[in-house]
Amino acid sequence: MGNTFKLGVVGNPVAHSKSPEIHELFAKEFKTQLVYKKIEVPLGEFEHTVDQLIEDGYFGVNVTIPFKVDAYRYASKCSSNVRQSRAANTLKFEKNMVLAENTDGSGFVRDVKDRLGFEIRNKTILILGAGGGVRGILPTLLDEKPKSVSVANRSINRAQELADEFGIQSILYDETGSEQYDMIVNATPASLQNKVPLIGTETFEGCQLAYDLVYKAEPTPFMLMAEEGGAKQTSDGLGMLVEQAADSFEFWFGRRPKTASVYKKIRSLIKK
Ligand code: NDP
Repeated sequence: MGNTFKLGVVGNPVAHSKSPEIHELFAKEFKTQLVYKKIEVPLGEFEHTVDQLIEDGYFGVNVTIPFKVDAYRYASKCSSNVRQSRAANTLKFEKNMVLAENTDGSGFVRDVKDRLGFEIRNKTILILGAGGGVRGILPTLLDEKPKSVSVANRSINRAQELADEFGIQSILYDETGSEQYDMIVNATPASLQNKVPLIGTETFEGCQLAYDLVYKAEPTPFMLMAEEGGAKQTSDGLGMLVEQAADSFEFWFGRRPKTASVYKKIRSLIKK
C-alpha cells in the first residue's frame, strides 16, 4: 500500500469549505490516497499552526481567508505569481523548505476562458473589490493582455495601492457607469450578505460576462443585478474554486486532474 498524503485547508472560517470534497474527487482519478482536513486557525496563530502541521507530517495545505499574506511570508520559496501578488493559497512542505504558489489567478482565467468561453485578450475589465482575491488574480489576468483593467473599491486608497502596484487604473464606484466594460468581476463578499456592490445597473450595458467570485446554490444578487442591467452572460465562482484546486493538486502531485465532472458533482452538492 502506498503513502497516504496529509493535506488540508487553513483558514478562519473554514467550516463552509468544499475543498475536502473537491480534492477527494481529484484523488480518485489518480488513485492517490489522501486525507484532507478543514483546519480552523485562530487569528495570529498561523505560523505556529503550520509549524505543527509540518511536524505532524503534512504534505501541504491550501490557505484561505485571512491567511494568504501570512502564507507568503511563511514560505521559503515563492513562485513568481506569489511574489507579484504577495499572497499564497497553496503551500507544499518539502525537506527543510516550504514552497508557495498562488493558483487563484490561473483558476479564474481557466474558468473564464475554457468553461465560459470568454477571451480576455484586448477586453476592458472592471474589478469590484481590492482584497486578497484580486491580488491573487491580477498577475495571471494581466498576462492575458486585456485592453484595460480598472479596479473600484469601497476604500479607495486600497484600490489606488493596487493600481500603483500593478499599473492598472483605480476608479470610484460612482464613476463606473460612465464607461462600458466587456467583463465585470465582483471580488467582494457582498453576495454572501445578500448585498450588491454600490454600482448602478447601467454599468452592465454592453457587458459580455459578469463574474461573481462568491458561489451559492442559487444565482447571486450580483448575477441577478447584472442580468437586469443587460449582461449577456453571468457566472458565480464555483468554476474558479474547482480550477484553482486542480492547479493546487498539480503543484503538489505533478498531475492535473480533470475538472468538468468534479464541477458538476460539487454544483449538485451545494444545491442540496
Ligand atoms: P478580502 O477580505 O481580502 O477583500 C474583500 C474586498 O471586498 C475588500 O476590497 C472590501 O473593501 C470589499 N468588501 C467587503 N464587503 C463589501 C461590501 N459589502 N460591499 C462592497 N465591498 C465590500 O477578501 P478576498 O479578496 O480574499 O475575497 C473576496 C471574495 O471572493 C470572498 O467572498 C471570497 O470568498 C471570494 N473568493 C472566491 C474564490 C473562488 O475560488 N471562487 C477565491 C478567492 C476569493 P474594503 O477594502 O473597503 O474593506
